[in-house]
Amino acid sequence: MKDYDVIVIGAGPGGYVAAIRAAQLGLKTACVDKWSDAKGKASPGGTCLNVGCIPSKALLDSSHHYHDVTHLLPAHGINTESVSLDLGAMMARKDKVVQNLTRGVLGLFRKNKIDFVHGSATLAGDQVVNVAGADGEQTQLRGTNIILASGSVPIAIDAAPVDGEHIVDNEGALAFDAVPPKLGIIGAGVIGLELGSVWNRLGSEVTILEAMESFLPAADAAIAKDAAKLFRKQGLDIRLGCKVTATRVNEGTVVVRYDDEEGARTLEVDRLVVAVGRRAYTDGLGLEAAGVALDERGRIAVDANCRTGQAGIWAVGDATAGPMLAHKASEEGIAVAEMIAGQSAHIDHALVPWVIYTHPEIAWVGRTAEQLKADGVEFTSGSFPFAAIGRAQGAGITDGSVRVYACAKTDRILGAHILGSNASELIAEAVTAMAFHGSAEDLARTVHAHPTLSEALHEAALAAGSGAIHI
Ligand code: FAD
Ligand code: AMP
Repeated sequence: MKDYDVIVIGAGPGGYVAAIRAAQLGLKTACVDKWSDAKGKASPGGTCLNVGCIPSKALLDSSHHYHDVTHLLPAHGINTESVSLDLGAMMARKDKVVQNLTRGVLGLFRKNKIDFVHGSATLAGDQVVNVAGADGEQTQLRGTNIILASGSVPIAIDAAPVDGEHIVDNEGALAFDAVPPKLGIIGAGVIGLELGSVWNRLGSEVTILEAMESFLPAADAAIAKDAAKLFRKQGLDIRLGCKVTATRVNEGTVVVRYDDEEGARTLEVDRLVVAVGRRAYTDGLGLEAAGVALDERGRIAVDANCRTGQAGIWAVGDATAGPMLAHKASEEGIAVAEMIAGQSAHIDHALVPWVIYTHPEIAWVGRTAEQLKADGVEFTSGSFPFAAIGRAQGAGITDGSVRVYACAKTDRILGAHILGSNASELIAEAVTAMAFHGSAEDLARTVHAHPTLSEALHEAALAAGSGAIHI
């Protein structure tokens, strides 16, 4: 049996990042992960690198370029008469990006002298981890500390059982071999919208069925309203208040039955994507035997510092409560490694930014106007449209706006919400300002380069106080 200071189970963005930080801090570290690629080789990186953030963004970028060629470039005076799509090449590029990054994780493990084991890990009690290796070999490791980072898997619903061909989850929807003429998606959450955008841009007629009456209820309502309008204009047929009740595969098409306020309806599509959310994945971890408890929603129960009830056993990322986001998992992983090394670490869950990589993108940090009202907080607000930003006009990306909310008494920024091109990058400034307890005036008095999209955040901060200039 090999002894370690830290054994990490799972090499997604929570686990592999925790392992690297632990090793950097001088801790003897092993990381076990069972993900295999199509050839059976280890493919660390978890959901994020294999079937999540990275392949979806690769396809979002590729499909965005394709869409721009026909929809944006002519307005720039560029003739694009004979454009065609090579879906195979687009998919191969996406696969290569995934392969480069998963191999990169293996390289980082080697560089940091982390023992990587390709296989399934089970807690065996007394800080021992049994590993059933992908090569059939059984090994035992013992760790003074064990970090559980087993991630999440798609939620399955009886009404639409995934068959991998006609009815798929996110993994299948990132690997269609042809553009489905008609694509149905169940769930207008982050994943449903991103995947719907990809296939809409590549030519599918996309219908999204969403059970809830409201669109993106986690986002700021004003931003969600504008986004819904823009997405519908792009051709996404988003139907709210539609609960899918049954599906039937019939001669290569999928007949979807759903209920809306008027009664039972059907929709016929060539492919159906089930994107109704994800659940913590803890199968086979042996939690019960190790005395590690789950919470009421089947997630590994942890305190604010990612400690389970068992000494020396920690848990991070999607397997625990909180937003299922890669950067949340990684920040927890770093903090846990630092706490194990005896440092004091802090995870600021209130400052985890959210991003939806549609076009335009949606990004926010902090509280929405609705949350602030519900919390009884008095706040000032400032908003500014990209249409009034010179750079946005020059680039032809004028959709959307920025909203900044600040405390009415202290001016401290309480939330920033962006609908617009590059919102995923622009939000970082607001996160930094909030991490330093900045005020709207701090943002307003910070010099922003001209002409840039970041001027919209500057102007929104000005609007929350002394007034915007360009409107
Ligand atoms: P995971 O990435 O799920 O990794 C867990 C790993 O543990 C897996 O490799 C699994 O095989 C392994 N494992 C589990 N049990 C065992 C065991 N017993 N033994 C060995 N190994 C085990 N988030 C963002 O922040 N930005 C995005 O743009 C984004 N896009 C997404 C797009 C899609 C389509 C999807 C599905 C998700 C997306 N996410 C995004 C979410 C993001 O992928 C997750 O939040 C993130 O991967 C969680 O990291 P994790 O380390 O907790 O778990
Ligand atoms: P998210 O959790 O952000 O990925 O979003 C998943 C979405 O799927 C939620 O908005 C759910 O309301 C929606 N959803 C879940 N079950 C169904 C169903 N049977 N029919 C339609 N929408 C659903």
